[in-house]
Amino acid sequence: MTAAGLYVHIPFCSSRCSYCDFATGLYQRELAERYVHALIAEIGSSSYHGEHADTIYFGGGTPSLLTPVQLDRILATLHDYFAIDRASEITLEINPGSVDAEKLRAFRSLGINRASFGAQTFDDRELAKLGRSHSSADTLKTFADLRRAGFDNVSFDLIAGLPGQTLAGWQQNIKQALDLHPEHLSFYLLEVHQGTPLAEHIRRGIQPEPDDDLAGVMYQWMLEQASEAGYEHYEISNLCQPGFHSRHNVKYWTAEPYYGFGCSAHSYDGHAVRWSNHRDVLKYVETIESGLSPVVEEQQLSQTDVRAEALFLGMRLMRGIDLRRYRESFGVDLRDEHGADLDRFCKAGLLEFDGDLIRLTRTGALLSNEVFAAFV
Ligand code: SF4
Repeated sequence: MTAAGLYVHIPFCSSRCSYCDFATGLYQRELAERYVHALIAEIGSSSYHGEHADTIYFGGGTPSLLTPVQLDRILATLHDYFAIDRASEITLEINPGSVDAEKLRAFRSLGINRASFGAQTFDDRELAKLGRSHSSADTLKTFADLRRAGFDNVSFDLIAGLPGQTLAGWQQNIKQALDLHPEHLSFYLLEVHQGTPLAEHIRRGIQPEPDDDLAGVMYQWMLEQASEAGYEHYEISNLCQPGFHSRHNVKYWTAEPYYGFGCSAHSYDGHAVRWSNHRDVLKYVETIESGLSPVVEEQQLSQTDVRAEALFLGMRLMRGIDLRRYRESFGVDLRDEHGADLDRFCKAGLLEFDGDLIRLTRTGALLSNEVFAAFV
């Protein structure tokens, strides 16, 4: 049986970034404590007790706002109910300036061995425009503290295509990130979500529209620089030093099971059932306190859905999809099923065959939504 991943959502932040549409709210001590109780109750009532798991991921929000004692209680509960591998990857999302050296040492002593670090940009004006609660000096200080605390697997989040961002500014950003030699880089193009302050600023002309063409140039430039520095581009938005891919996130792209806990958390049984929890923090807590299930949506996938997901999730990985394995798993030849689309995208330079593998090219990675739309 494939080992599962366990995801724990912590929906609290010290301030609200202008582009954010995640299920998060401002940190309140009493609500955070109620939330941790609710999480522990939800984990205790999971239908998947006893399953083998080899990754744990604390995402958010800003999970590093919880105390080490709170994280310890959640981890102890996961260990009580799941068969967690001793060599598990345990990731904590950490924002610069949200923790001091002592707290990081305490996190590390809990067995947390990977930090996903929300640097976003090293330009203080861009950080301010995004409403981030930290400066680039905080980023450098927290990163140094992470290293001193023994975190030898750190991933940087970086955002490209910010309003007003120049290519020169982006190049400076990437150079600063690479100079710090993080083991992993996650790279996002800014998306403007309706209802966020950023969308309103753009609508009112306070900030310019993001330039998608420029963001594409930034993406290609970053891939070249990171490749030269020895990073492997293993997923559309992710690069790593050899051996440091995110084991947890790879489960999402290879249809392995994962069980999510907390508000807005999603789960997949690894076969054909997906489900998700209440998005609202208070609703989630109150539902659990009333002894009810926080699940609000459950979806039974058809075989066609499962094949489509295997295709568009698997293609996110730059190694591509193995046609032979696809045929063995589903009894269908991908060329018979999607031959015309595969040919069309190959001719357009977005996909390429390599023996039995079909994969995105670098240009295809940038235009991946266009490719995936054909397979859904
Ligand atoms: S730190 Fe992340 S989750 Fe929190 S408000 Fe900013 S973007 Fe949203």
